[in-house]
Amino acid sequence: MIDLHSHSDRSDGALPPAGLLALAAANGVLGLALTDHDTTAGLDEAAAAARSHGVEFVPGTEISAAWHSQTIHVLGLWIDPACAVLRQAMAAQLDRRRRRLRAICDLLSHKGLPGERLHAMVEARSEVPTRTHLAAALVEEGCVRDARDAFRLHLGRGRAAHVAANWPPLDEVVGWILAAGGIASLAHPTRYALSSTALHRLLADFVAAGGRSLEIACGGNAAHHVGNCAALAIRYGLEVSVGSDFHGPQLPWNPLGRLAKLPDGTTPVWRNRGLHGHRDG
Ligand code: AMP
Ligand code: MN
Ligand code: MN
Ligand code: MN
Repeated sequence: MIDLHSHSDRSDGALPPAGLLALAAANGVLGLALTDHDTTAGLDEAAAAARSHGVEFVPGTEISAAWHSQTIHVLGLWIDPACAVLRQAMAAQLDRRRRRLRAICDLLSHKGLPGERLHAMVEARSEVPTRTHLAAALVEEGCVRDARDAFRLHLGRGRAAHVAANWPPLDEVVGWILAAGGIASLAHPTRYALSSTALHRLLADFVAAGGRSLEIACGGNAAHHVGNCAALAIRYGLEVSVGSDFHGPQLPWNPLGRLAKLPDGTTPVWRNRGLHGHRDG
């Protein structure tokens, strides 16, 4: 079993990288990519833990990008975290995240919520501030019932405290991944608010930018969904990746490493790249 999309507490996951690898080994995952949002901070710890558990490790990251005012996530797989271009890019992403956190908390304050306090809580807890952290802080402060409500009422698209982060354009983000010797895989293509026509344009632009792979199965995606994504991958000449998008054991319906079977005709991104743990590739 191969899982090429997961998060640790270096971004918005619950487990430290070593704990994530221990769980992967226990779940029978043979190859795992750690793909924290806009950071490579957990990769050394994860690689060392992978060696001790006999799990094949893929150094990765999930980078936030902009495409026609939509936020798009691009997985960088087999990246070299020491690459100077990538390091500088990650520093800039962190800066964007910090500025957005400030802006969101100011909007929360305007709504009568304890913006300053929420800001301090998130800053204290994470190097890489995400809306997941802010949602957790809103729950802890008793402002909302759960994280879902935090997004539904405040942080999600169209809500009063939604701030469109100033993410760099898609082609620039793909360029960072290529500079770091990595493979760019477009994450969870059906999670974006795009028409079918727009999704086709996105894929064409992604390929033109140097994107190589499409994440056709993410978490518990249904078989028909995986089949549709596989057809898109084949049409655009893209290899395919699969991943759980695991964030922590608190979401038991999305375990690390439970993944769909690869549809016929697809080329797994790990074929000929030194991963052996999947019956389909
Ligand atoms: P950010 O990258 O800071 O915009 O945060 C996005 C992260 O928030 C995603 O990677 C998810 O982990 C999480 N997220 C997005 N929407 C929701 C939601 N409706 N409920 C819970 N978590 C969400
Ligand atoms: Mn996340
Ligand atoms: Mn994502
Ligand atoms: Mn993710």
